[in-house]
Amino acid sequence: MPDVATPYNVDSALEAGLEGRAVSREDAHSLMNEAPLETLLQAAAAVRDRFKGRSVSYSRKVFIPLTHLCRDYCGYCTFRADPQAGVQPYMTTDEVLAVAEAGRRAGCKEALFSLGDQPERLFPEEKTGLLPHSNPGLMGLEDLRRLRETNVSAGLMLESASPRLGRSGGAHWKAPDKVPSLRLRTIDDAGQSSMAFTTGILIGIGETPEERVDALLAIRAAHKKHGHIQEVIVQPFRAKPGIRMAEAPEPCKEDLQRTIAVARLILGGNMNIQSPPNLLSEDYPDLLKAGINDWGGISPVTKDFINPEAAWPQISSLTARTAFAGFVLRERLAIYPEFSSRSEFVNDRLEPHVRKLRGEDGYARDGAQC
Ligand code: SF4
Repeated sequence: MPDVATPYNVDSALEAGLEGRAVSREDAHSLMNEAPLETLLQAAAAVRDRFKGRSVSYSRKVFIPLTHLCRDYCGYCTFRADPQAGVQPYMTTDEVLAVAEAGRRAGCKEALFSLGDQPERLFPEEKTGLLPHSNPGLMGLEDLRRLRETNVSAGLMLESASPRLGRSGGAHWKAPDKVPSLRLRTIDDAGQSSMAFTTGILIGIGETPEERVDALLAIRAAHKKHGHIQEVIVQPFRAKPGIRMAEAPEPCKEDLQRTIAVARLILGGNMNIQSPPNLLSEDYPDLLKAGINDWGGISPVTKDFINPEAAWPQISSLTARTAFAGFVLRERLAIYPEFSSRSEFVNDRLEPHVRKLRGEDGYARDGAQC
């Protein structure tokens, strides 16, 4: 609850978030810059508990990096690669199906595709039953409509709403696909295509607290217009050897918690808010205090190709640590419970695959196997 020692503007901002009123930009800035951390976390956790209860979800998935080719040069990226003589730039269909099949045997239900041209041509759900979720970068309306034929959901991180980061030396310098207006257009087009959509922000890449707030407000506006955002990820930058930002400071746990809590209050109790457990070492259960209700995709089969140095926790350990923090870990599908029974979001071709895996409450059905 708002504490008596907090300034009036912080109290009124906390009240707006707690009461489910739209938090204004000014309120959000107060929360980001002035609210005492513990008070802020309590408010965000209370909103999460009221709407989501004490269930925290994850998706059991395989990660399929169709290609590492990329025309951008983000300052924090270890994923991209230039074409190399003698190196096959794309996974073959057989390689994709081998990974998907290994995932199916391990109980996975999601195939997460990153990048690559025309992932819709691979149809893994037909061979393995895994539900595809693609992150193919910027897309137009027609691309999204085609992708929707074979993907139960798709994603594009907004990352930041700050065009400033594209200036010389910034995190998005030489990254033409990271222009915020273009990414917001794809997010909007996804809404027009009725595609259940994942987006989020990447923090600690040179943005100001106000710019973080602006990114969250832009996501809220897109969702208000189309109602298609199924989850918002709050992801911290991690410094790694060999990247342009190798020496840049990483956001600390408290900074990540504060940003998650502000995201919860801006986006409200109905939104699914995720932060990956593998980017915060052993302290990851502390993110639950900030109002998340999802851990994201966890793979028992493949590593996290975007953050290959960060091992995912074992699902048994994630279950135990989530329980110790007072929550129940639930497996979800690549399409969230709020979307998976709505015909405008699941086309006729994918519906039988979704129905086979979906329990009555929308989470993965107990014992369901692809
Ligand atoms: S973060 Fe994504 S867009 Fe940026 S360089 Fe890496 S693969 Fe390309």
